[in-house]
Amino acid sequence: MNFIETRGNDGEHPIEVTFSAAILAPIASFGGIYVPKTLPELGLDFLQQHIDSNYKSLAKAVLSAFEIDIDADVIDEALSLYDKFDDADKPVPLAKVKDDLYVSELYHGPTRAFKDMALQPFGVVLSSLAQKRNENYLIIAATSGDTGPAALETFKNRDNVQVACLYPDGGTSDVQRLQMVTEDAENLKVIGIHGDFDDTQHALKRLLGSAAFKAKLKEKNIHLSAANSVNFGRIIFQLIYHIYSYLELVRINAISMGDKVYLDVPSGNFGNALGGYYALKMGLPVEKILIASNKNNVLTQLIKFGQYDLRNMSVISTSSPAMDILKSSNVERILFDMFGAERSKEFMANLDNDKHYELSASELTQLQSIFAADFCEDDEGKQYIKDAFADGYLMDPHTATCFKAYDTCRDKPLTTIAYSTAEWTKFSPTIANALTGEQDANDIDALKSIAKEADITIPAIINDLFDKEIAHNTIIDMQDIEKEILSFL
Ligand SMILES: *Cc1c(COP(=O)(O)O)cnc(C)c1O
Repeated sequence: MNFIETRGNDGEHPIEVTFSAAILAPIASFGGIYVPKTLPELGLDFLQQHIDSNYKSLAKAVLSAFEIDIDADVIDEALSLYDKFDDADKPVPLAKVKDDLYVSELYHGPTRAFKDMALQPFGVVLSSLAQKRNENYLIIAATSGDTGPAALETFKNRDNVQVACLYPDGGTSDVQRLQMVTEDAENLKVIGIHGDFDDTQHALKRLLGSAAFKAKLKEKNIHLSAANSVNFGRIIFQLIYHIYSYLELVRINAISMGDKVYLDVPSGNFGNALGGYYALKMGLPVEKILIASNKNNVLTQLIKFGQYDLRNMSVISTSSPAMDILKSSNVERILFDMFGAERSKEFMANLDNDKHYELSASELTQLQSIFAADFCEDDEGKQYIKDAFADGYLMDPHTATCFKAYDTCRDKPLTTIAYSTAEWTKFSPTIANALTGEQDANDIDALKSIAKEADITIPAIINDLFDKEIAHNTIIDMQDIEKEILSFL
């Protein structure tokens, strides 16, 4: 199957590209992104057929329905990385929290956040494409904390790919920073930036627009690609767990095949929610997708009122930092799917020029037929963490935002799948504070106090970080990024 562009074609890019071309060069005409030309129809037959499939067989069947130009042995190798998750048979466990609320845990991979779900297999696919074409790729990732560790982990020691990972010094948790700076491999460079995440992202944008930088990369015969969720190579792996979680509910008799459910997604760049949207369009019985946000509530405003308005907004730091995002990239794919290329090009141009766009009344009705949304303040989130713990469930602050959406966004009493995107170990100070009221200055104290309170042990993969040797100690000013990356290459 081929891929087309969200903002239409500019006459310079090809009209359609293959999956591998969309992965290697993810930015399309007019700054748009790639989407599948059509979606495969799976339907109830497919679901019935896979009722007893394990995660990998289901994934293989979904990927093959897309007819992508990736060799079967590469797909097998990519999917084999789910064997490294806590339970190879069930990489995505489902926990029952209330009679009609189940949490699908997406964090059981090597870096303990849901980015592993897509980035683990994506690393194999990208590296093998690069090898096959005998090309070298540079991935530059700017991270607020979860993408960086997951990108480093997946590309570590892979051929024909180098990764430069930029993080705001002091802007991540201790665990997140240690996950990055202890990752030792010749093809990885981790760079701390003096500034916050916005500064870091801004510096990356400037670098990517620099003609001098591009010329130097060309000289060294290096191509640039992206590992964030504008890359469809990530989205395709994020469809699978929505279908898997539904089938899991059928298997445990929580629902009957064909029953509708709510998907309840903690959202930032909208990759996770987009995976749910595509699954719905492919035939998964979904009533609505609930979009949970924190105080950076642009998505709530869009879905409730049809306004995407950044005119009086600046990013607010919250206790769910992976969702501290104002420009949510994958919303564009929804706009394209619902309203077409011309309209989404117009929306995106308005956002770039006026920091604002507005849906018509009928467009808003269409959006609301699929999505509902609400946002959760930090204090509310803390209370949800506390209440869930009292009921026997330990969760992180991103997951907590879904509990608010579960309370406020459902208009039918249907079974709900909420997605948990991070393990408690990654955002421990907030959780320790919610459970005990204490304020820990660092992660290790918070981890210990949660472990004690919940009578569990700190997973070795996290505990060992504190004794691991630091492999990267570069911390620089923004204007030195270009020089630093070039000297690494
Ligand atoms: C990345 C991330 C999110 C946001 O996911 P999107 O696909 O960008 O919407 C939510 N929670 C955590 C913990 C994350 O790392």
